Amino acid sequence: MINLKHIFDGWANVIKNKFDALDPAIKLEAEIRLQHCDKCYMRTNNKCDPDKVGKHVETDALTKGCGCNISAKALSPCTKCPLGIWNKMSICNDQL
Ligand code: SF4
Repeated sequence: MINLKHIFDGWANVIKNKFDALDPAIKLEAEIRLQHCDKCYMRTNNKCDPDKVGKHVETDALTKGCGCNISAKALSPCTKCPLGIWNKMSICNDQL
């Protein structure tokens, strides 16, 4: 399900990062997320590809890519990888 707040948070952090104003803890966790995305079959260019299907690492459910821009998604504290490869950041206080 699309969560506009998560999308907004990710893009806001992209801008903060360009101005060197990003929380270092978010930046560090985003870099770890991106290491997973960089080698993931579901990645097409800078997108988590909704035309590809992968197996969720915990449930084995076949799952489509979310369609998100990976650079922004990685910087959104409360997002999760659709395949469960990475989860919400510890800094996330969102109940969703
Ligand atoms: S968010 Fe998850 S499924 Fe999408 S590219 Fe990154 S690691 Fe792969």
